[in-house]
Amino acid sequence: MHVVVLGAGYAGLTLTRLLERDLPDDVALTLVDESPDHLVQHELHRVIRRPGLADDITVSLTDAVDRATVRVARVEDVDTDERTVFLSDGSLSYDVGAICIGAETAFYGLEGVREHAIALKRLEHAARIRSAALEAFGRSDPRLVVGGAGLSGVQVAGELAELAREEGATAQVTLLEQFDDVAPNFPSNFRRAVRRALENAGVVVRTGTTVTDADEASVVLEGDEQLPADVFVWTGGIRGPDALEGARPSVRGDLRLTDRTFALGDAARVVDANGEPVPASAQTAVRQARTVAENVSRLVEYDREGGVFEPRLESYTFDSPGWLVSVGNDAVAQLGPAVLTGRAATALKTTVGAGYLSSVGAIRNAADLVQEELRFAGGR
Ligand SMILES: Cc1cc2nc3c(=O)[nH]c(=O)nc-3n(C[C@H](O)[C@H](O)[C@H](O)COP(=O)(O)OP(=O)(O)OC[C@H]3O[C@@H](n4cnc5c(N)ncnc54)[C@H](O)[C@@H]3O)c2cc1C
Repeated sequence: MHVVVLGAGYAGLTLTRLLERDLPDDVALTLVDESPDHLVQHELHRVIRRPGLADDITVSLTDAVDRATVRVARVEDVDTDERTVFLSDGSLSYDVGAICIGAETAFYGLEGVREHAIALKRLEHAARIRSAALEAFGRSDPRLVVGGAGLSGVQVAGELAELAREEGATAQVTLLEQFDDVAPNFPSNFRRAVRRALENAGVVVRTGTTVTDADEASVVLEGDEQLPADVFVWTGGIRGPDALEGARPSVRGDLRLTDRTFALGDAARVVDANGEPVPASAQTAVRQARTVAENVSRLVEYDREGGVFEPRLESYTFDSPGWLVSVGNDAVAQLGPAVLTGRAATALKTTVGAGYLSSVGAIRNAADLVQEELRFAGGR
């Protein structure tokens, strides 16, 4: 029997580690990713200001798993009826599979934006944003524009404002959002606190503002306003991966796409057991992996031992302990009705980041991350 996990991000790596613990030893387990490393994406924006963090947020997959076979290849297609995965270097068949290949940046057909903006999904993007910002700081009156104020856009704007301050540049950082508030998919007390933190950091926040195009020197807004931009970072949304033809397929309450194939994390559009649409986030990807691990184990047991009735599978219910973002050297943490900022929130952010790294077995990275964050906190 063969269980295959496609993608080793938050969802896929967490799922693989749980399955290593739960599945019988004679069930083969394969983890496929196009990269040999797991990237702690929720800290990626930090690398714009602190390139040295890149190593701390990169974890070798062979170190992170125990008995699973790691296969480094690109997933090109998945035939869920035939339970076959087509890879860049061959194919794999499976008995139970999980699609966890995340999402790509969505440009919504805005070709000028695709051509002129820098997205942020991988380490090389963070390096490009950093060098474009440093180059812009050498010009007079530099303008940096971030399009899209979700979790990534908020944190990128915060880093750019702080980078400008550290470099002694009088740059203007503008964050654009088409909806009426920043972090529009999140609770209202969190949204208010995030907006305040951005404004305190000197970021110009423009909500209700839609990007329609871009060229090499400006971002075009609805109503034909041209906003000068030396650097334009696009964090305006996500779409499904190419292997799923750009779609984020909807899954059932138990996170199954079809009978023996699950989809979770950013790759899937999830409405939970209470009908709540679930925000794409690292936090939800990890929690969904726990539900899927349980469901895969039940299906494997049923398929091995046979039985009259299909097993009952667990439904995923979205429950979040709260939300946490950094805004430059500050952070905002929302825990139910309470909102924390300042040292308490930054300490929590560091602890959560380090806790996650330890949970995937990267104790050394976790320690280095804490040390690095403390070094910067001390320098404030
Ligand atoms: C800058 C930034 C800041 C963020 N901050 C936060 C935050 O503070 N809190 C929060 O909860 N979330 C945050 N997020 C969102 C969070 O990172 C994502 O929601 C999360 O990564 C989704 O996890 P995942 O496992 O579904 O996908 P990913 O973590 O994206 O993992 C997908 C994996 O699949 C692999 N892959 C992709 N395509 C293929 C393919 N075709 N073949 C093989 N392998 C493939 C990738 O290499 C990757 O390892 C942030 C995101 C960004 C970009």
